[in-house]
Amino acid sequence: MTYDVAVVGASVGGCTAARLFAQRGAKVALIERKPDPKAYKTVCTHFVQPSATPVIEKLGLAGPLDALGANRNSLEIWTPHGGWIHGPPAEEEHGYSVTRRTLDPLLREMTAETPGVDLLTGTTVTGLTGRGVALRDGATVDAKVVVGADGRGSKVAQMAGIRGRVKPHGRFFYWSYYRDLEPRTARSRTWFLDPDAAYTFPNEDGLTVVLVAPHRDRLPEFRADLEGAYLRMVESLPDGPVLDGATREGKLLGKLDLPNVLRPAAKHGVALVGDAALSADPLWGVGCGWAFQSADWLVEETADALTGGGDLDAALARYRRAHFRRLAVHHWFVADISSGRPTNPVERMMFRAAARDEHVMRAFARVGARHEQPTAMFRPRTLARMVRAGA
Ligand SMILES: Cc1cc2nc3c(=O)[nH]c(=O)nc-3n(C[C@H](O)[C@H](O)[C@H](O)COP(=O)(O)OP(=O)(O)OC[C@H]3O[C@@H](n4cnc5c(N)ncnc54)[C@H](O)[C@@H]3O)c2cc1C
Repeated sequence: MTYDVAVVGASVGGCTAARLFAQRGAKVALIERKPDPKAYKTVCTHFVQPSATPVIEKLGLAGPLDALGANRNSLEIWTPHGGWIHGPPAEEEHGYSVTRRTLDPLLREMTAETPGVDLLTGTTVTGLTGRGVALRDGATVDAKVVVGADGRGSKVAQMAGIRGRVKPHGRFFYWSYYRDLEPRTARSRTWFLDPDAAYTFPNEDGLTVVLVAPHRDRLPEFRADLEGAYLRMVESLPDGPVLDGATREGKLLGKLDLPNVLRPAAKHGVALVGDAALSADPLWGVGCGWAFQSADWLVEETADALTGGGDLDAALARYRRAHFRRLAVHHWFVADISSGRPTNPVERMMFRAAARDEHVMRAFARVGARHEQPTAMFRPRTLARMVRAGA
């Protein structure tokens, strides 16, 4: 089996890379260990940031998502330092909130139908051969580039000897889905309680994710009485959701440890996209968006070299640098805050100012939506407004 690209993992990052590579004329093997083409990820709360919307449109996914009722999301954030920050409405800019049960099969089917893509499900990659990948059944797939889109614990990264920089995570997560949750709002809402956090993300079909992210210090309380601790925390959220009258659909899901890992996104013959390149704290809802976007950046940097016989190593190096330039500073801030440390005076001033001043709110929202680097908050005009409104 000989291809231009072997993509390992047919989730958000892998499907995006496979479809966009094929649309640029490459022959792609998309290899997924799960046998069912309709399989989906359950450990995700699927708030996709607005920064990914252009890639979702480029894939031709926006129309089908809208048709299925995906929520065009927008955000409100509550902090004890100024109360609600009301982000711009979805009519101005939006990402998508859509359950993985809907998103994953749709994106995979669309990708499998793309001319040039061969989807091999129920097939696990177990090794790198130097000119492609080895499969569990002993077969090999030859390719000029192997793309590791195999998630947080990336085996491709391990096998290629690509080591990550790890920053610890200071919170844990429990969540479930509710129907008919009050208040009935299409807005996504996050609580930064300093140090605990929580969020409610409405999706298609009237399902809302209700997640709590307590500081690790509260693990014993949750271990002693998981259900009670979860409900108490949801009920204690200021101006929070009302569970009475809502119906829980499905069990309580949890994730106890989610370290932040940043890996160099390419080396000779191998590229990483999505979580394989950067696994970030889920609190900011960035993982899916960055999986869409990093796959797009990879294709933009390497497709010509791949199909036109150019310098592939130079193209991969460009992608590695682009990934680092675009995401390293975000990663540093996300990882630092994910430690669960108390907010500092500058952050408290920023929250207060964003709750009171539209200019600061919009600057904050653009960073949160991942359109801009966190350093954008320190532009002179924004800083001046922040000091005036937040003092
Ligand atoms: C609790 C939690 C909440 C989250 N909430 C959000 C959120 O609200 N918004 C958001 O944007 N992100 C969120 N995320 C992150 C998001 O789920 C990930 O960033 C996203 O799924 C990454 O996509 P990916 O394609 O890189 O990898 P994954 O979705 O992890 O997919 C990897 C794929 O590779 C396959 N695979 C692995 N190894 C092999 C192999 N050897 N051979 C073949 N196939 C293989 C797997 O079966 C899988 O299909 C959350 C994560 C967690 C843990």
